[in-house]
Parts: sequence; C-alpha cells; structure tokens
Amino acid sequence: MISFVGAGPGDVDLITIKGRRLLEEGDIIIYAGSLVSKDHLNFCKKEAKFYNSASMTLEEVISVMEEGFKNSLKVIRLHTGDPTIYGAIREQMDLLDEKNIPFEVIPGVSSFTAACSSIKREFTLPNVSQTVILTRIEGRTSVPEKEDLEKLASYKASMALFLSINNIGKVVEKLKKGYEREDVPVAVVYKATWEDEKIIMGTLKDIEEKVKEAGINKMAQILIGDFIEGDYERSKLYDPSFTHEYRRSSK
Ligand code: SAH
Repeated sequence: MISFVGAGPGDVDLITIKGRRLLEEGDIIIYAGSLVSKDHLNFCKKEAKFYNSASMTLEEVISVMEEGFKNSLKVIRLHTGDPTIYGAIREQMDLLDEKNIPFEVIPGVSSFTAACSSIKREFTLPNVSQTVILTRIEGRTSVPEKEDLEKLASYKASMALFLSINNIGKVVEKLKKGYEREDVPVAVVYKATWEDEKIIMGTLKDIEEKVKEAGINKMAQILIGDFIEGDYERSKLYDPSFTHEYRRSSK
C-alpha cells in the first residue's frame, strides 16, 4: 500500500495522528524536500529508507513506489500541507492505478488555513464574504483564462494565493483591477507555523513594497479581503435571539 500523507504547513505537530502513525510505521519515505520540514523524519524508523522527491522525476518516484510495493513494504509519500491542493498527486495516482498498486490519501492542514490562523482571522464573516477562493497567478504552470486573477478578484470574496509571491507586482496589479479599490487589506504570511514565520500586513496599495523590503520571494501565502480588517456582523449561530436545533430559547 502506498500512503499519500499531508505533512501540514511546517510545525511537525500539525500532521494528523493518522499521518504520524503512518510515518512511524513506514519502510520507505518519499518526501517533498523543498517544503516539508525534515523534522518529520525524526519520527520514522531508523532503518527506513528516505528519498527526497525534489531531485526526482515522476517516473523515478513511481519506480521507488513500485519496488516497495513488490517487496510488501509500507511506502509513505509525504506532501506539504494538504496533498490535494497543488500536490501534483493526480499524476502519481493515475500511474499507480495503471500498475494496479493500491494507495490511500491522508489529508493535512493546508498552508492557507495555517496562514489565516497565524494572523488570527476568519475567512468567512457573515456580511463580508462567505466564499474563499484558492488560486495562484500563472507562472511556468498556466492557469485557465476563465480563472484569471482579475476576474476572480471581481467577486470580492476572501482569497488565498499559493505559488504567487515571486510575482507580487503582477498579483497586485490584477487584484486592484478586480477589487476596484486600493485599500483592500492584504496579509502575506511567509513560512506559516515554522520558527522563522514572518507576517506582513498591508493593503493592495503598499504590500508590494513591504514584501520586497522584507525580501520575501517564496513559500508565502497571500491572503486578500475585507475579512482581514473592518466591520462584520455577528454570526446568527451564537446570537441569543436566534434558536436552532441544538440550542432552544431559554425563555
Ligand atoms: N499542498 C500545499 C501547497 C503546495 S504548493 C498546501 O496545502 O499548503 C506550494 C505553495 O504553498 C507555496 O508556494 C506557498 O504559496 C504555499 N505554502 C506552503 N507551505 C507554506 C507555509 N508554511 N506558509 C506559507 N505558504 C506556504
């Protein structure tokens, strides 16, 4: 069995209990070395074999998995955050399917929720936004035109941008057009939950300058929207005058 495991955003204690158990039992660990904290490997068996996928091709990764499966070994494929978001796991799963090798996927804490927790905010405020858009700006990987950042920003929903910090100039330009304002709050969270985490707060007007000044050009979440600053309505769920299935009026 191959287990795709979400390692979480950085802090090793943010992996799931299931993920940690699998790491402890794994015979072969293939980890995404560029983003996954090496500290996770301290939980593995001493005799486990480790592969850093950063220097491997898809075919090489699959052949390590296949070899492990043939020898009845437990193979753990450790991905950063949650494997189902920008994890490039689909192509791995499809090749495993072709070879009739069974696999499972264990979710993880994604960096977008970790970043929002770091700034102590909530993406979904009742009258501000009830929608979170997860996206990226195009880089070497293209983004379908119908999902152009400017178009998505025109919904004025809460947004979390992955893989985009090295292009902050273009990001800001498109967001300004989409949101049609410059004073939209923005938070850049570099290495959320790591020891060297950095938070930069600003608006579309000044965030580019602040990010460049701080020298941040990788491994950051860009969170955008009025959920970061400003007024909001209290939720109905905890409103004393609002009763529901689990809480009847005390009167
Ligand atoms: N599957 C991962 C995302 C992988 S894509 C997840 O669910 O988080 C890699 C991008 O994720 C980076 O470019 C960065 O935008 C973001 N990222 C990953 N770890 C991060 C962290 N600890 N803090 C901020 N952003 C992070």
